[in-house]
Amino acid sequence: MKIHNTLTGLREELVPGGVKKPSIADYPPVTIYSCGPTVYGHAHIGNFRTFMFNDLLRRYLKFAGYRVNHAMNITDVDDKTIAGSGREGVSLREYTERYTNIFFEDLKSLNIEPVEHYPRATESIDAMIDIMNRLGEKGIVYEKEGSLYFSIAKFGGYGGLSRLDTREIKSGLRYDTDEYEKDDVRDFALWKSTKDDEPSWDTPFGKGRPGWHIECSAMVRKIFGGTIDIHTGGVDLIFPHHENEIAQSEAAYGDRFVRCWIHCEHLLVEGSKMSKSKGNFYTLRDIMEKGHSPRAIRYLLFSAHYRKQLNFTFDGLHQADAALARIDNLLVRLGDVPAGSAGNTEIAPLIARFMEEFTSEMEDDLNVSGGLGKLFDFIHAVNAQINEGAVAREESDLVMNALRRIDAVLGVIFFPADEAASGDVARIEALIAERRDAKKAKNFGRADEIRALLEADGIILEDTKDGTRWKKRK
Ligand code: AMP
Ligand code: ZN
Repeated sequence: MKIHNTLTGLREELVPGGVKKPSIADYPPVTIYSCGPTVYGHAHIGNFRTFMFNDLLRRYLKFAGYRVNHAMNITDVDDKTIAGSGREGVSLREYTERYTNIFFEDLKSLNIEPVEHYPRATESIDAMIDIMNRLGEKGIVYEKEGSLYFSIAKFGGYGGLSRLDTREIKSGLRYDTDEYEKDDVRDFALWKSTKDDEPSWDTPFGKGRPGWHIECSAMVRKIFGGTIDIHTGGVDLIFPHHENEIAQSEAAYGDRFVRCWIHCEHLLVEGSKMSKSKGNFYTLRDIMEKGHSPRAIRYLLFSAHYRKQLNFTFDGLHQADAALARIDNLLVRLGDVPAGSAGNTEIAPLIARFMEEFTSEMEDDLNVSGGLGKLFDFIHAVNAQINEGAVAREESDLVMNALRRIDAVLGVIFFPADEAASGDVARIEALIAERRDAKKAKNFGRADEIRALLEADGIILEDTKDGTRWKKRK
């Protein structure tokens, strides 16, 4: 599998553990760390574009035969979470737990797979202290007014990831300049002094709270112990967040921090980045309240290549619905074919070619739009076979199995919420069939009971000369 590494600017072969092996099964699990949400409100769908990309990456790696060991942090202490909990007069813990739970619910709605680890910053203070101790021993930190800073001048190799012009860095144009007193504008706080009413932790460097950047370095070390294969995040994190993570971790431990950096491009609204600070954002719930399904949102958010910006529009959501309707239409047709075999020898090679083409698109820097193109070519070809009457149950099962395998990567073909809904449909149909049989057997008591049962669930039955129809009560 080839993937674009921000650090080298090249499309590189993925080599988990850094040593080439004869086959995928020989590799150790791929270690992945993804910068997660800051839990001070609902995540917006721009955030979810990046989280969806993480999901696609891990699902594809598993599909390709790799094992994965994936962590996504929860940033549960920073300026915004402290300000939010202060505003509401609740503890930081209570405040961040609320938004962490909402975040997990949203992940579930979007059919994003859980990862192996969800470390919290507030539970990783020990690992932060270890980094600061080591940096202290090496003389790379200094203290000012109770805060601890990383001295970039003492670390060779700063800026390798973002390759920003050093003049731009020096001028401080791209830095927060409201951060206390610093020797050099590029320096960043590892540990911040706190006011009396703010949450704080006791450390050998005094009472305080973590700076944002050190949180991720600490959690990577705590979970994985050393160099990791992949680190992901949105492109806005390349500088300074990821640059600072590299500086702290490599200065503290002396070994390489990350082999491959992968960054997801932004979701835009009318040409500018969707962000909380601009106010131009939609949460998942905002869009669901307008009647759109999380399935369409999932489809839309991952359907563009992760290194291309994606402009969010409601028209785009309608197009996603239309694409999903084509998929659903095939599923219904496959379910309707007659029993037995049509003796069609073209289906198996059609499936084999589709699997191969889909895989080769995905191997190429996760080209999901190419992969989806192959899926729709396949759907077209299978529909043509159905039109010719060349598909019966045996052939349709082969196609269904192929779709299930592909859906381990895409997660939109057999969407869990829809499966629950179609489970409802199956139950309704089964009850209607039972009622028909009951009436035939003159067991009218049971037939009325079934009608009442369904009515209680809001399902209205209508007996016509062609059989019983049902509808949902409005
Ligand atoms: P935050 O909760 O602000 O720390 O962001 C969580 C993740 O979402 C980070 O990886 C960000 O880079 C990413 N992100 C923020 N805004 C966008 C956007 N408009 N499009 C894509 N990713 C974004
Ligand atoms: Zn991070």
